[in-house]
Amino acid sequence: MTTVHTDHAQAWPSVQAILRNKIGDDHYDSWFGLAHVESVTNSSGPNKDQYTVCLSVPTQFLKSWIVKHHMEALLSSWQARAPIAAVELTVRTPAAYVPTSVAERPQEERMEQRAHTTLTYTAPGSDDLLGSSPVDPKHTFSTFVVGRANALAHAAVKQVAEGKRGDAVMYNPLYVHAGVGLGKTHLLQAAAFIGNSHERRVLYMTAEKFVFEFAQALKRQSSMAFKEILRKIDVLIIDDLQFLQGRSAQAEFGHILNALIDSGRQVVVAADRPPGDLDLLDDRTRSRLVGGLVVEMGSLGQETRLNILKLKVAQARVYHPGLDIPEAVLEYMAGALTGSGRELEGAVKRLAALGAVDAQPISLEMAEREVRDLIRPQEPKRVKIEDIQRVVARHYNVSRADLLSARRTANVVRPRQIAMYLAKVLTLRSLPEIGRRFGGRDHTTVLHAFRKIEALVARDRELAEEIEMFERQLQE
Ligand code: ADP
Ligand code: MG
Repeated sequence: MTTVHTDHAQAWPSVQAILRNKIGDDHYDSWFGLAHVESVTNSSGPNKDQYTVCLSVPTQFLKSWIVKHHMEALLSSWQARAPIAAVELTVRTPAAYVPTSVAERPQEERMEQRAHTTLTYTAPGSDDLLGSSPVDPKHTFSTFVVGRANALAHAAVKQVAEGKRGDAVMYNPLYVHAGVGLGKTHLLQAAAFIGNSHERRVLYMTAEKFVFEFAQALKRQSSMAFKEILRKIDVLIIDDLQFLQGRSAQAEFGHILNALIDSGRQVVVAADRPPGDLDLLDDRTRSRLVGGLVVEMGSLGQETRLNILKLKVAQARVYHPGLDIPEAVLEYMAGALTGSGRELEGAVKRLAALGAVDAQPISLEMAEREVRDLIRPQEPKRVKIEDIQRVVARHYNVSRADLLSARRTANVVRPRQIAMYLAKVLTLRSLPEIGRRFGGRDHTTVLHAFRKIEALVARDRELAEEIEMFERQLQE
């Protein structure tokens, strides 16, 4: 006989937070965003303290990916909160087939599940080879707050999404980039939903899923089938392109991108950096991406944040009808949580849970206490290699062109090495990519420059201070 241990199940929200921290927001959202605790049981066997958690996810794909890549992180996150011996994963059956078990679930879950059953889209005729990544039904255009930072991206994505089958393609590909939590996935999923309701065959996939599906197809020797399926769709939406890893999958992505664009089908891509900084891709694919419309979304302003908070509160009221967060508290939160939409949503969820327990309006003190650990130091600014080159060149009184040139005079060589060093330290670019951005130099040249400056900094106080000054200036 087994028993459900609700007190262990209640650890889930804090386990989620630990896990998110461990594997990062993007991985967390991609793989665990739709996971639910089904049960926590202990067997009546010899060891009664051996609890097993059962988590469910909506697709077999999510399950196998988590089992393969994130099991250890998942288990250790649980163990940090509760004495759990094992975690099992199951695939949730679509609501329609098991009405009784679904009816027993809380309303929130029921609604979510129903929505997923209808929204998760599979390209027609694709059998089970190519499914869409799961789409959050809350991510629609009507729940997307438009502000100064995202107005252009919003307009472009919406316009593309509202196109009908056979319409002329406007911006192709449409490439949206922004830092974490600024609404890329929200926008793309809204587009996937609208697109499907316009009778176009839309496939929404994270780049990780693309890679996974491609690898599966190769394993089954059916990469031709993979290409055929992708060629059958009208709109391909790829999220988090920066995670496109592996040479053959990258090459394949390039082929498919070309095939789709050449035949007038729409491609929409989101990534955390501009196309020029995607060092994974070959030049041809990169220039194809640059050739469409590239839009950056900036950080959310105070007013946009306040509006997002209000919207998230309205959404939370569906499940917490009594939720009452006074305007002054919302304003405080909009001022304090400057990082991303994710923090805003997290804060509202916490306060909603708190309000549900205490059945009282949320005070400023409560809000302060709850959001304190959400307030992280500002995400480090994304430093651009061009900015590094400009700042360094200006300081040493040479031109940026000198830094990129083949000149080897001492007055150019040292600043060039310093700029390369800073590019390595302040950006996530690879050595070959940095070399490319410094007039097509080899990665060994970059590595040499990096080591050289690193060694100099260790013993040259003046240079160390100069480098520190550059770093401050660039990250400001
Ligand atoms: P990204 O994919 O850029 O990392 P997401 O789209 O996942 O960011 O957004 C993170 C959270 O913030 C989501 O809950 C999303 O709904 C919310 N969010 C971000 N921007 C907006 C916005 N402009 N309006 C409403 N919600 C937003
Ligand atoms: Mg995202």
